[in-house]
Amino acid sequence: MIANDMLPTLEKLLVVQDRDRRIAQLKLERMRIPEQIASAEQRLKAESARLEGLRDEAKHIEAERKRWEIDAESKRTQIAKYRTQLSQIKSNTEYQALLKEIARVEREIDEIETHELEVMEKSDQLQPSVKTEQVMLKEVSAKVEAERADLQKRIAIIDQELKQVLAERQQLAREIDPDALNRYERLMRSKSDFAIVPIRNGNCGGCHLNIPPQLAHNAKHGSELTSCDYCGRILYWQPE
Ligand SMILES: [Zn+2]
Repeated sequence: MIANDMLPTLEKLLVVQDRDRRIAQLKLERMRIPEQIASAEQRLKAESARLEGLRDEAKHIEAERKRWEIDAESKRTQIAKYRTQLSQIKSNTEYQALLKEIARVEREIDEIETHELEVMEKSDQLQPSVKTEQVMLKEVSAKVEAERADLQKRIAIIDQELKQVLAERQQLAREIDPDALNRYERLMRSKSDFAIVPIRNGNCGGCHLNIPPQLAHNAKHGSELTSCDYCGRILYWQPE
């Protein structure tokens, strides 16, 4: 792994780098949690809206059925009135005309009853969907609740670990030569991944370009930190 004659400063910086990478990882994970909670809540909201939509549809259908019912009822009242009138009519023409009118309204009632049946059929078809959606909503609601609880627990765990790693990092940093630490920190800020990389198969572990033998020799045996000429990262020798 690490060469035996590695500079103590380099060895310590590698540990700091390891902690810094863990800190960055934890911060990133923590930053994404509110988004994950929001997306779970969005799912619940959508499911709830679906059920609301089905219930609205059922309400509309019921209102429509009621309208047909009232319509049919008023036409039946009309027919009853006509029948009373029939007994008082003397003229045959008027009598025939009223009979025709009664037949017309009766046909209308027939039509209305057909509509009523259609609407009731629609309502019957809708009921199972409403029930299924109610079950779905309950399931999604329980899942989202569990997910939210898990994520909140995760926040607490992350915060705990962050506190611990940050304290550890601070302690490690105190033991390192300030100039070397400064150099490392500047590099860590400018590179998004590593400030210190191994030389692997003669190449820089950061930019992957070939390291001249002299530089590799310095990294292996030198008494000072060695940097890659191309990317500036601090190099260490890793036996193959
Ligand atoms: Zn490089």
